[in-house]
Amino acid sequence: MERISWNQYFMAQSQLLALRSTCTRLTVGATIVRDKRIIAGGYNGSIAGGDHCIDNGCYVIDNHCVRTIHAEMNAILQCAKFGVPTAGAEIYVTHYPCLQCCKSIIQAGIKTVYYAEDYKNHPYAIELFAKAGVFTEQVQANPLLIEVNGKEKHDFVISLLSQLKESGAGDKRLDSLLKQADALFGVQSN
Ligand SMILES: [Zn+2]
Ligand SMILES: [Zn+2]
Repeated sequence: MERISWNQYFMAQSQLLALRSTCTRLTVGATIVRDKRIIAGGYNGSIAGGDHCIDNGCYVIDNHCVRTIHAEMNAILQCAKFGVPTAGAEIYVTHYPCLQCCKSIIQAGIKTVYYAEDYKNHPYAIELFAKAGVFTEQVQANPLLIEVNGKEKHDFVISLLSQLKESGAGDKRLDSLLKQADALFGVQSN
């Protein structure tokens, strides 16, 4: 088993949070980290208790969904709500922050932004980060750390092997393949 890096670990946390997004326009996750400890997390969604875009559709004005609070903002506001300092912290975001989030990140005193995917990368945001001395670095997200549809993939492989068996392939070899598939997907056979 290979040990994952801190960058991969915290980015995976943001990938996982992104799956909680309620705005269908873009699923984003953000994790704020201080001294290698997660202090807050957020995802793209509406205010607590409000309507969700996934239920009611996005509320779009000028090509922006105005219902959504961005993941980075949600994470910063969680710190505000519970009185957790963000000065000198790092943020891991699945997508390059928009201009509004960029300004909030700087103003919250966050000093490092790790992002997985480029997302428009507004030139003014790049300029502001540089002027504020905020270090930005792209971190390759590992999609395999967050297994989406894992059960479906497992069941698909098992059904393929069963069909092979039915079509008369050698039992011994197939039993070994089935065991390998179960081991690979972390399923206990028998
Ligand atoms: Zn929306
Ligand atoms: Zn934003």
